[in-house]
Amino acid sequence: MGNTNGNEPESKMKRVSLKELANSALQWTLCILLCLITLVFFGTLMIMDTGLGQKLVLDWLALTQTEAWGDSGVFILLFSGPIFALVFVGSVYLYLYPRSSGRVRKRKEARPSLGAHPVIVSGPLGVVTSAELFWIIGMLLFAAWMLIIYLVKTFPSLAEQYPEASTAELWQKRVKKIGLRLGWIGEICLGLLFLPVSRGSILLRLIDIPFEHAAKYHVWLGHFTMTLFTLHGICFIGPWYFEGRLDKIFHWDPHRIAILPGVIALAGGLLMWSTSFQYTRTRAFELFYYTHHLYIVFVVGMVLHVGDFVVGVAFAGIFLFAFDRFLRFCQSRKEVGVLSATLLPCGTYEVVLPKTADLAYNELSFVFLNVPSINRLQWHPFSVSSSPEDSPHHMRLLIKPLGTWTRKLGEAVSKAAISRCPLKLNAGVEGPYGHESSYFLEYEALLLVAGGVGVSPFVAVIRDLLHRYKRNEPGLPHDVTLVWAVKTHKELRILDSLQPILTYPDYALHLKLNVKAYVTKESLEDLEIGEDEVTLTHLETMYDSTAEQRTISHLVGSGNILWISAAIAASIFGYILFTGLVGVFYLFPKDHNSHSVVPWWIRGLIVLAGMVVGVCVFGGSVICIWYLFGCTSKKKARRERDESGSSEALLNGSHEEFESCNNFRVQKLIQRSNTVYGVRPDLQDIFDSCAKRFSGSNIGVLVCGPEGMQSSVAEQCRAFNTVLHHRHQTGFSYHSVSFDL
Ligand SMILES: Cc1cc2nc3c(=O)[nH]c(=O)nc-3n(C[C@H](O)[C@H](O)[C@H](O)COP(=O)(O)OP(=O)(O)OC[C@H]3O[C@@H](n4cnc5c(N)ncnc54)[C@H](O)[C@@H]3O)c2cc1C
Repeated sequence: MGNTNGNEPESKMKRVSLKELANSALQWTLCILLCLITLVFFGTLMIMDTGLGQKLVLDWLALTQTEAWGDSGVFILLFSGPIFALVFVGSVYLYLYPRSSGRVRKRKEARPSLGAHPVIVSGPLGVVTSAELFWIIGMLLFAAWMLIIYLVKTFPSLAEQYPEASTAELWQKRVKKIGLRLGWIGEICLGLLFLPVSRGSILLRLIDIPFEHAAKYHVWLGHFTMTLFTLHGICFIGPWYFEGRLDKIFHWDPHRIAILPGVIALAGGLLMWSTSFQYTRTRAFELFYYTHHLYIVFVVGMVLHVGDFVVGVAFAGIFLFAFDRFLRFCQSRKEVGVLSATLLPCGTYEVVLPKTADLAYNELSFVFLNVPSINRLQWHPFSVSSSPEDSPHHMRLLIKPLGTWTRKLGEAVSKAAISRCPLKLNAGVEGPYGHESSYFLEYEALLLVAGGVGVSPFVAVIRDLLHRYKRNEPGLPHDVTLVWAVKTHKELRILDSLQPILTYPDYALHLKLNVKAYVTKESLEDLEIGEDEVTLTHLETMYDSTAEQRTISHLVGSGNILWISAAIAASIFGYILFTGLVGVFYLFPKDHNSHSVVPWWIRGLIVLAGMVVGVCVFGGSVICIWYLFGCTSKKKARRERDESGSSEALLNGSHEEFESCNNFRVQKLIQRSNTVYGVRPDLQDIFDSCAKRFSGSNIGVLVCGPEGMQSSVAEQCRAFNTVLHHRHQTGFSYHSVSFDL
């Protein structure tokens, strides 16, 4: 017996290590599977025009051709199947190994990873990291390969095919071939173009790139795609001009490529493209935003242009975007109340929104806000300034009045705050979106560089660290330097809401928090003595307890992975069922899938209709059940809490929790001693002192501010990671929290 007992811990340990082994084997298998599927996707496209590729495609055609789905099904399965496979395997991966709950692995090497080392720090592309540069070069090489391999195959045979053609005619045909191929490559890019802007996309969550970063890839891909499509158009219109057949642009052939819808799509695309450059985005966001909706004209025109089977290559991207758009629509239907708002002396205000405890978000998350009483159509993004652990029932946003919309909201806050009324306001909320993991935890030390209201996400980061220290979590960053530049001293009061002592009184024992503020547009003499104590007070609206029930909807793309994948699966099933029924009862009886009776553009429209039915009806049904399920569990939780205490106590409890977070008057983090007037931060000096203090470490640098600030910080990171690295052996990992989309 004694012997058996003695062996028990050993066998238990064996069981545990076996379980761990199986777990990591499964994790590796899933990772390898994800890599293989990605390889299959790009590999298929790259070998398509080789002898082997053509044989494989023909075999695939013979294998997957069906009466119900015809060529369209074959192409969708071939080109979009891998993307859907990535979504589902990715869902399993994220479900089994959620990044949000796992401990972040500590970085051992002093050198930053490829994704955190800037190589280009200014110019039309903005700050570009090594990983992004590899991606850009990879995409260009991929496109060049696709073009060259096709031309090498088709050009020599053209002269044989048209022996009577003159040299000029032969060149016109060659140019058209180039155009044809550019259109095909554009189509592939179009499919990829939609993936980064599917805000809650499982693919983005899988690679842990939040939407506001992914938007950068969308911008680059967008410019590239539109260049390809424009050249595609020119390569056809040019030769038609020389042939004297420009009237071809009005042709709408039912059983070939329909040219007119293609021209309409290109015109819509060009209009959209012309307003999507940085200049318009920053100076006339509305113009950019509304013309960008021409993507609907672009996609419909493109589908009518190419019919049902060529669209297969862009299908997955468009489908997943449509799903995400529908989910966002469902989420934003719910009206959210505003619990309270605080007006700060600089005009910036803090808005507190109610949420349910199970709505997860991250320290660097952001939400889109719509206030119908200001403008029904506009959705504005704002970072969350509270940590998820500050309060399970609230979410805070710090908003700086910048343009018309933010000013109007500020006026409403100011009116309610001055008259001490509740801010009776309904809002629509989309999100939260953001990183899957708290990546900043992987560093020993953090250097946070903020400009103005760009400090908002860092308030959340510091609050989160304090909560983690309070919970005694091991391996956290032990040194945080916040460098904050503001224009006027009044803005300094934004940081009053951060009171480390309130969250964790003993924080200074574990965390070294250095805050250095720079007031760039004022000198010390400009300050009126005593002004900051007497006149710079915060004005608060009354707490609106009726808003507590109108919480942010739990139907969010970055929410429950099981529900989202079930809704995507239902949408795909709906598409398959709809197009299958149309195929069996309408298309196949008409022309046996020969594409000679039913016009191509009608077939294209059937694909689009299938997407709408799949997403809205089938996906929508699952979303409906998800919504009801969420409401039932919310009610149950409320009932249970009501039974254990009165609902009034619940409201009071919630209000107290809110008040404790809202206490602005305990201890100021910004003092005269750590504030410098009339100068900008000397970044080189700051980096130098960090490099000396943390020699041999990798420092996490997070920047949130204007473009110039991001460039300067990236420049310092690059310099210290390359030239100066050998002196200090310190790495600076660059991460930007961008307020530009
Ligand atoms: C991810 C992200 C997080 C942000 N977090 C905060 C925050 O925490 N606090 C804060 O004060 N500001 C934040 N912003 C900026 C905020 O969204 C803009 O200041 C606000 O939308 C300005 O709207 P407006 O009509 O008042 O001003 P405008 O004068 O119309 O615009 C001012 C600037 O904001 C940009 N902008 C305008 N409308 C939008 C929009 N709908 N979407 C994206 N950009 C827009 C314009 O390009 C312009 O550069 C964030 C932006 C992004 C992209």
